[in-house]
Amino acid sequence: MQDVLKALGMSDSNRGGFSGEWTGSGKIQAVVSPIDGAKLADVANVTPAEFEAVLARCHAAFASWKLVPAPKRGEVVRALGDELRKHKEALGTLVSLEMGKALREGLGEVQEMIDICDFAVGLSRQLYGLTMPSERRQHRLQEQWHPLGVVGVITAFNFPVAVWSWNTALALVCGDTVLWKPSSKTPLTAIACTRIAEKVLRDFGYDPAICSLAIGKGSEIGDLINTDPRVALVSYTGSVPGGRHVGRLVQERFGRHILELGGNGAVIVSEKGDLEIALRSIYFGAIGTSGQRCTSTRRVIVHESIYPAFRDRLLDLYRKTPIGDPRMDGNLMGPLVDRAAVETMLAAIETVKVQGGKVLFGGEKLPNAGGCYITPCLVEVPGNLPIVKEETFAPVLYLMAYRTIEEAIALQNGVSQGLSSAIITNDQRESELFLSAAGSDCGLANVNTGTSGAEIGGAFGGEKETGGGRESGSDAWKAYMRRQTSAINFSGQVELAQGITLEL
Ligand code: NAD
Repeated sequence: MQDVLKALGMSDSNRGGFSGEWTGSGKIQAVVSPIDGAKLADVANVTPAEFEAVLARCHAAFASWKLVPAPKRGEVVRALGDELRKHKEALGTLVSLEMGKALREGLGEVQEMIDICDFAVGLSRQLYGLTMPSERRQHRLQEQWHPLGVVGVITAFNFPVAVWSWNTALALVCGDTVLWKPSSKTPLTAIACTRIAEKVLRDFGYDPAICSLAIGKGSEIGDLINTDPRVALVSYTGSVPGGRHVGRLVQERFGRHILELGGNGAVIVSEKGDLEIALRSIYFGAIGTSGQRCTSTRRVIVHESIYPAFRDRLLDLYRKTPIGDPRMDGNLMGPLVDRAAVETMLAAIETVKVQGGKVLFGGEKLPNAGGCYITPCLVEVPGNLPIVKEETFAPVLYLMAYRTIEEAIALQNGVSQGLSSAIITNDQRESELFLSAAGSDCGLANVNTGTSGAEIGGAFGGEKETGGGRESGSDAWKAYMRRQTSAINFSGQVELAQGITLEL
């Protein structure tokens, strides 16, 4: 642990606030690894007064950062990506230690950060506006995009570094400054990332407060972010109830928000699909990151003709799941993030039994020092029972049968979340129907690949209670800028739109 902290410029005791200088004299939090319950390091939270100073500096930094040409801002993001390459091993290991995901997934998460930096460097030369034909003679109509301000980035524990980078790489090239409030479950990785950004900004001679940090309780520091008009955009990743609260507060002051909330991913397995692809995609989607991805596969909807055989094959895989220390290569599943998550999973299993589900396997706590290991659970259900409609953030997979493709799509869409979905089929009519307006109602709809593991190139996000936000690739950058439309008259005369005449 000491080597990892040292490689990232950290120590046993760290301060949780940054805006050009490190601050934090609030509550000291001992960060414990879910892998074995061992203490990793201490973090001092920021007080509300320290938060005020952090925000004031981050806001002040915007005044000069927004004037730096976008391609020059892109150079900073290129250097950020290079630093992340250098620190990939250490940062990926810290992600695994602090959050409990498999080491290869921790390294994959850092790779995702590098990828979004590369994407954003190109983007820094492509913040395109439009020109439109004007209805008036010798007039020009154009749209351009300007920096927005401070982006408050509030992140969930399960992707402790990638979500910050999705937001930060884009915000930086867009000319915004960033104030990050990470999950209190993963503060160390946030300090590590902020140190990396600090070094890069200092190397270039820019104000390091451009990437600020404030670690503290969501109900305290989070609410200060939600309610402060200096924060132009709040990009919030977390649960649906949390997003509902954040959305209300930010909307009240007419701030902008990006809401990336809970999912309830489903895979439809057609009798015309490749069952090996289905098994692998579903198994990884359900147990990867111990079922703690917003895009995790939580429901499988299988054609009745292949249902018994498919269920038995999946059950076989579940029985053999290697569970243990996520740093060991052979283990496919590590711990849940904390004991509370284990209790939530056990409670959901009890509820589904009462509601008519049949547990086929799993839900057994494993003896371990940290107390966070549990076997993945496979449950047979007659359809979307009330508990199935909820997002239980744990490796519980509900299995149900369907008769017609229309029925399968209705089951897939029959929940309040709308993030990720997939169909496994080799029938083009089925896959096109699934992708059509009559098909999946989710922000992500895949064919012959699972619900999780999105690439950074596409816009990421979901519909309905998932919040409607988009971040990462495609044109998601537009949420981080303000649009300005201009009419430019070079006629030397006054001509009004809509043919209105003005006789003086
Ligand atoms: P959470 O809702 O408990 O916490 C998320 C963040 O909100 C944390 O940083 C927390 O401190 C903060 N917070 C708490 N109260 C707040 C307040 N009053 N104001 C502002 N912020 C506040 O979520 P979690 O358990 O960390 O993460 C799991 C959830 O996140 C799941 O529902 C998962 O689906 C969702 N998630 C969604 C996406 C996505 O892109 N859609 C990605 C990852 C996780």
